[in-house]
Amino acid sequence: MRRETLCIHGGWQPKNGESRQLPIIQSTTFKYDDTEEMAMLFDLKKSGYFYSRLANPTNDAVAAKIAALEGGIGAVLTSSGQAANYFAIFNICEAGGHVVASTEIYGGTFNLLNITMRKQGIEVTFVNPDASEEELAKAFRPNTKLMFGETISNPAGNVLDIEKFARVAHAHGVPLMVDNTFATPINCRPFEWGCDIVTHSTTKYMDGHATQVGGAVVDSGNFDWEANAEKFPGLCMPDESYHGLTYTKAFGKMGYLTKLIAQLMRDLGSIPAPQNSFLLNLGLETLHLRMAQHCKNAQAIAEFLEKDERVAWVNYCGLKNNKYYELAQKYLPNGSCGVISFGLKGDRATAVKFMDALQLISIVTHVADAKTCVLHPASHTHRQLSDEQLKQAGIAPDLIRLSVGIEAVEDLIKDIQQALERI
Ligand SMILES: *Cc1c(COP(=O)(O)O)cnc(C)c1O
Repeated sequence: MRRETLCIHGGWQPKNGESRQLPIIQSTTFKYDDTEEMAMLFDLKKSGYFYSRLANPTNDAVAAKIAALEGGIGAVLTSSGQAANYFAIFNICEAGGHVVASTEIYGGTFNLLNITMRKQGIEVTFVNPDASEEELAKAFRPNTKLMFGETISNPAGNVLDIEKFARVAHAHGVPLMVDNTFATPINCRPFEWGCDIVTHSTTKYMDGHATQVGGAVVDSGNFDWEANAEKFPGLCMPDESYHGLTYTKAFGKMGYLTKLIAQLMRDLGSIPAPQNSFLLNLGLETLHLRMAQHCKNAQAIAEFLEKDERVAWVNYCGLKNNKYYELAQKYLPNGSCGVISFGLKGDRATAVKFMDALQLISIVTHVADAKTCVLHPASHTHRQLSDEQLKQAGIAPDLIRLSVGIEAVEDLIKDIQQALERI
């Protein structure tokens, strides 16, 4: 089935007389008539539901839809995008391991790698994603377990050369993991370009209505863990907590995701509520329609801003003069996302005046939902930093992040225009 059809029918196909819409199985536990059957589930010898921390039918149906959309063999939902990235990485990289990550990633993921995972004994080297393959190769060490990047980075909007990253990762015997939150599988499927594992913050476009916080980890099934068994003992050696079972041997291609559920979900939790997965599923049903409108609106607004003399600069990979235009044409031929960044001539105060003058467009700490919103990192998320420190963090003091929604673009442009007139 095509992606548009999968958005609607993926994951849940009701049988005769069953509920048309995905049912919310709001239950922690599942009943069995005999002890032996439950014991088999605990030993992973049989598949079935017994406790929602490990698996729940509503969550599984939505995970299956996301896996189908990405063209993967399976997916696991998590309670947030942060949890998805943490689980995806920690599943193969423990204390003593090392990660090579792009510098151009979401601030939360940067902190996770740079602060929290270091405390757990995991090292990270950040690389400029635009560097040559030779430069990128220098970051690898014998204990490197994976390479990480974002298809379209949040907030900078850089486009990742996925094929280049995949070549470098594979030359070092490790998988490439890509956070595909901003592009969504509607606009890019990283597996088609050599990526091995995809992660998502489903909080953004997938939900699309700002109703739930969630995440997903999707496996392509393409990475050969056994060929690099010494690097991945957690997958390729017996697990004591499951009577010496070896994930790759017992579950083949599903080994990575089975370990993620059986070990990490069991021990760390972080499952989504079935109610949230239901809301996420409603969002997914219209993802293909919404992404097209986000991209069309963002393109029109980027072109409008570019022509206005009060605007100092505009960054959107759909603009012909953008540094990432060529990469966007290759990886995101149908459109990228609705997030634009731009700066106004003037200083921090000019940006604040502009934002306060907006009427339809609201100031919120969110991106990628149906309603257009705006954020000024220098006044909000990064307000403790001086102009100099902001520049070091790669954020211009005048940077305004505009997340373009799916309203009529004429109304959005009218609002921007009147706000520009009042600065
Ligand atoms: C928001 C975001 C995250 C974190 O997701 P949460 O759902 O907020 O935990 C991770 N990666 C990217 C690219 C994001 O935009």
